[in-house]
Amino acid sequence: MTEVTLTDSNAAAEQMAKLQNQLQQWAKEYYENDSPTVEDAEYDQAYKHLQELEAAFPELIQADSITQQVGGQQVKSELPKVQHEVPMLSLGDVFSFEELSNWMANTQKSFNENLAYNAELKIDGLAISLIYENGKLVQASTRGDGNIGEDVTKNIKQIKSIPSELNEPISIEVRGEVYMPKDAFVALNSSRERDGLPTFANPRNAAAGSLRQLDPKITKQRKLASFLYQAVDATEILNVTTQSDLLERLSSLGLPTNTTNAVVTNTADVESYIISQTNNRDNLSYGIDGIVIKVNNLNYHEELGNTVKVPKWAIAYKFPPEEAQTIVLDIEWTV
Ligand code: NAD
Repeated sequence: MTEVTLTDSNAAAEQMAKLQNQLQQWAKEYYENDSPTVEDAEYDQAYKHLQELEAAFPELIQADSITQQVGGQQVKSELPKVQHEVPMLSLGDVFSFEELSNWMANTQKSFNENLAYNAELKIDGLAISLIYENGKLVQASTRGDGNIGEDVTKNIKQIKSIPSELNEPISIEVRGEVYMPKDAFVALNSSRERDGLPTFANPRNAAAGSLRQLDPKITKQRKLASFLYQAVDATEILNVTTQSDLLERLSSLGLPTNTTNAVVTNTADVESYIISQTNNRDNLSYGIDGIVIKVNNLNYHEELGNTVKVPKWAIAYKFPPEEAQTIVLDIEWTV
């Protein structure tokens, strides 16, 4: 009996190490070089398998496992580094209505009242933090490894829709997504192809590659845009109590926000929101890779807290890959 467990555990450890190496390599290509070599679905499948193995063999979880880190390894670009006072996290994800409904039921357990959620589009770009002091934009940074990001202040100032001054002289850190509109992506890749330069794999990587530049002039040419959806200490500074009101308040400050959100209170409504947004996906001028469901009451965010990597008050429902494809992984696993 002991022997069998030992063998399983050895086999699992070997598979986990293989997956870990492969995922770290893909994450480096994706986050550091902005140049992925595999589809997101293939990455997600391998990641999920590693999570399953870690759940089955918790004693084998490595402290530096990719499942315990935001955004791969620490950023190694030449851009100056910025320490985030409040870590910038990733999002947990689900891939089916059933998983989403389980997440909602589980989140509901801690509360007596029926929870409301704000459903938002998951913008396919890269996370950004903007710090305004007395209404003036003083610092912009990428998420990096969640604790240390890259200073992209000069580059962010090249994005027309991001105001260098808010409508009110307040001091606040707001967060959101920088993205490249679909038409700008197509035009950029065509011109790179003409110039014999490597093209970007998708708008997300093009946005990241365009923002993480040492020369802000290059960023300026790339026609990036942004949506903001979060603020640090929002309840105190902005006097709002819900995520849906926060979006409106950010907009009143002059920040670009996405207005397709909806407040939903049950799984049926979340599902119909997801279905209608999925059907409308191709009509949007920007890419989305899923829907984010957030507990609407901001006071509950603190109560629910975070893991080292993701908030417990939000989840991303990820769209299946756009073109049906058979994913063949070059790592074999059996557990
Ligand atoms: P993620 O992109 O799946 O989700 C978290 C991010 O969503 C947040 O940090 C935020 O930037 C963004 N976001 C967009 N809209 C939002 C909204 N309305 N509210 C809140 N957040 C919003 O997570 P991640 O950690 O950035 O990246 C992991 C994913 O990246 C993987 O699931 C995989 O799909 C992809 N990836 C792919 C490769 C590859 O080689 N293809 C490698 C690494 C990662």
